[in-house]
Amino acid sequence: MEKWQQILSGSIMDSANLSKFAKIDKKKIDKVIEKYPMKINHYYLSLIKKKNGPIWKQCIPDALEIELRAGEKDPLLEEKYSPIESLIHRYEDRVLLLVTNLCTGYCRFCTRKRKVGIKEKVLEGKGAQKAFRYIKRHRKVRDVIISGGDPLFLDDEKIEYYLKSLRRIKHVQIIRIDSRTPCLLPQRITPKLCQILKKYAPIYFNTHFNHSQEITEKSIKACNMLADNGVVLGNQAVLLAGVNDDPHTLKRLFEGLLMMRIRPYYLYIPDAVKGTYHFRVSVERALEIMRNLIGYTSGVGIPHLILDLEHGGGKTPLLPNYIIEHKNRRYKLKSFENRTFHYDDVK
Ligand SMILES: *Cc1c(COP(=O)(O)O)cnc(C)c1O
Ligand code: SF4
Repeated sequence: MEKWQQILSGSIMDSANLSKFAKIDKKKIDKVIEKYPMKINHYYLSLIKKKNGPIWKQCIPDALEIELRAGEKDPLLEEKYSPIESLIHRYEDRVLLLVTNLCTGYCRFCTRKRKVGIKEKVLEGKGAQKAFRYIKRHRKVRDVIISGGDPLFLDDEKIEYYLKSLRRIKHVQIIRIDSRTPCLLPQRITPKLCQILKKYAPIYFNTHFNHSQEITEKSIKACNMLADNGVVLGNQAVLLAGVNDDPHTLKRLFEGLLMMRIRPYYLYIPDAVKGTYHFRVSVERALEIMRNLIGYTSGVGIPHLILDLEHGGGKTPLLPNYIIEHKNRRYKLKSFENRTFHYDDVK
C-alpha cells in the first residue's frame, strides 16, 4: 500500500471515531451521515484550527444538511444531459466524464451530493468502453473533463487507462482533470502519478482549494510537482457562507494559489442543491466581493465569477457593472475605486 492509500484507509467515517478528535453531538452526526456520508482523513482533519472554522465547516457534518429542506437534488439537470450514465454532454465540444462517485473526502457543500459516496461506482469494463465509444462517435468533442466524484481517488492504473483511451481518439485535443485531492490529500500526488500525467500532455488540471488554510507545505509540494511535470493548473473554488465569503479571505486564497503556480479559474456561486442551503451566498454579495477584488490584486489572480443556471442553462459569467450609462456612444463608467469617468467610443 502506498502512503496516500494508508492515510486514506485511516479516514474517519463514523461519529464514534470522529468524537475522539472533535467535540460533536454524535446522534445528530449519525442522522446526517445516514443520508450524506462522511469521510475525513487525518491530514485534512489536522488543518482544523477551530470549531466551526472554515475547515471544520467544509468537512464536519452539520444537522442543517437534513433540517433545511429547500433545494433540489439535481438543479442543473445533469441527469437529463447524460446520454449515458457516466457522461454529461451539455456543451457541443466538451464532455464531463464521471469516472467514479467516490472521493478522497466528502465535502459538506458538494453539488453532486445526491450521488457522491453512495453505492460505489467506478467506470470500467463495458461501461468504460461505452463511454469511449460515445466520445469517438461525437467528432465535435475536443475537450474531455475527467471528473466524478474525484478521479484521483482511483489508482494510477485506472487513471492511465482513461488517459490512454482518450488519447487514442483523434479529435480529443485536451484532457482535463477536476480533483479536490491536491487539497484534501496532497500525498496522493506522487512522482509516479506525475510521470503518467506528463505522458499524456496537454493535461489541464483544476484543483479545488476554497481557503488559504488549505495551502500547506504538503499541498504546495504536490502542486509544484504537477507543474514541474507540465500539468497546467487552475483552481475552481466555491463561494461558501461562513467559509470564504469575504474579499480578504479570497484575496489571501488567490494570492496563495498564484504562489503555487495555480491560476484561479472559476469562483462558483453555490448551486441550489438540497442539503447545502446553509452555504448559500447571494448574487448581490458575490458581486460586492468581486468589486472588492478587481483592481486590488493581480488580474491573473481573479477568477471568473460563475453562476451555473438552473435546469441546465449552463455557466454564466457575472461581473460587477462598471457601466453607469451610455448615450450616443458616450459612456459614463465607474473605476474600480468607484470614481466616475467618461469615455467616447469609436464609431
Ligand atoms: C462546467 C462544465 C463543463 C466545462 O465548462 P468550462 O466552462 O469549459 O470549464 C463542461 N460540461 C459540463 C456539464 C459542465 O458542468
Ligand atoms: S471532492 Fe468534489 S465531488 Fe467529492 S464531495 Fe468534495 S466537492 Fe463533491
